[in-house]
Amino acid sequence: MSDVTIADIIVGNGQRQRIDLPVARLPTQTQMTLPIEVVNGRREGPRLWLSAALHGDELNGVEIIQRVLDKLNPRTLRGELVAIPIVNIFGFINQQRYLPDGRDLNRCFPGSASGSLASRLAHLFMTQIVAHCSHGIDLHTGGAHRTNLPQVRCDLDDPEARRMAEAFAAPIMIHGESPAGSLRSAVAKRGKPILVYEAGESHRFNSDAINVGVKGVLRVMGDLGMIKQPDGGRRRQSMEASNRTWIRARRSGILRLQVKLGRSVTEGQPLGVIRDAFGDDKYTLTSPGSGLVIGLTNCPLVHEGDGIIHLALDVTTHRV
Ligand SMILES: [Zn+2]
Repeated sequence: MSDVTIADIIVGNGQRQRIDLPVARLPTQTQMTLPIEVVNGRREGPRLWLSAALHGDELNGVEIIQRVLDKLNPRTLRGELVAIPIVNIFGFINQQRYLPDGRDLNRCFPGSASGSLASRLAHLFMTQIVAHCSHGIDLHTGGAHRTNLPQVRCDLDDPEARRMAEAFAAPIMIHGESPAGSLRSAVAKRGKPILVYEAGESHRFNSDAINVGVKGVLRVMGDLGMIKQPDGGRRRQSMEASNRTWIRARRSGILRLQVKLGRSVTEGQPLGVIRDAFGDDKYTLTSPGSGLVIGLTNCPLVHEGDGIIHLALDVTTHRV
């Protein structure tokens, strides 16, 4: 197994080390750095990165990475884990989703060395982390007052990504392309397998989302042969969806939901009611098809066009 070099810092075989990768200066001249921990195993193997808080207000992934790091020992690890728990350092310290210039980092990949701040950070991540690694898992939560059911999203037609998704064994795996400019889309274009894990809500620790995430990451590492299988490789049940859709508010008002996260729904089923403040002018939201509720708004105030319920469609269940 060889040494690891990131930002000219060498992490020896069988060692773990923190690296502060310089990103940019604040207007105060304070140097902002990307905190990274490298765990370099004694034996040769896959090089997996774990990233979180690309959206600076999404905290569950930060906790997931910390708990995974607690369980690793470089003397027994095969391959290498590169942990970047806070990618959007600027948003994180401001408790905001975006960069100080209002850009969404997860729409700026692969970025460029001379672009906007978000574009430069994306470029740094691609050249220092993605280029170095063989596999990736990017951890997210729902944004904008929404909660996500624990789920993995990836290209299930890519055999290595499917292998990781099945090993993760989240309650549901969702197949599909990722938006242009996202880390997932930039990594997929480089032919590397990547999973996105979405669970819980921003600004919070959700214990279920964190527990499912920690176990899932460890099962992927076990399946890749980096660590011993955490639960003896026991098979589990997971759902798979090939499609998803947002049910949006047809009118503005005050929302009362009639469905919970993780519930199956059928076509035409009432899912919630939007009314005015006096309870009049009722509008009932109904399901456009059979599916599973994978995301919900937490906010009773809705504007017309707001995404209220995220529904996985064409859902099947199988053992993974
Ligand atoms: Zn996110």
